[in-house]
Amino acid sequence: MIRDLELAFIKIHILFHAEKEEIFGVGLIAELSGHGYDIGPGTLYPTLAKLESGGYLTCQARTVDRKQRKYYRITPAGKVLLNGMRKKIEELYQEVIQPK
Ligand SMILES: [Zn+2]
Repeated sequence: MIRDLELAFIKIHILFHAEKEEIFGVGLIAELSGHGYDIGPGTLYPTLAKLESGGYLTCQARTVDRKQRKYYRITPAGKVLLNGMRKKIEELYQEVIQPK
């Protein structure tokens, strides 16, 4: 259960960062660990693949320092999804964190 909830938050982090800049797996693992999420490649890469196959991310493979790396960016559909989530996060925040 905790994993399900965390995975939803992780997906929002992914969309958010992919909107700002190109992202890649190892960088995301570091970023997410800074937020207290302990996510390994075995969970992250399938999550990225799902977001890609859903049309929310695009992926471009490039070779950097002789290593093949997949870079992801948000798509227009991903932006629509993220903006919808922003509204829901705001609402959730108002209700759960700052009740009037
Ligand atoms: Zn983040």
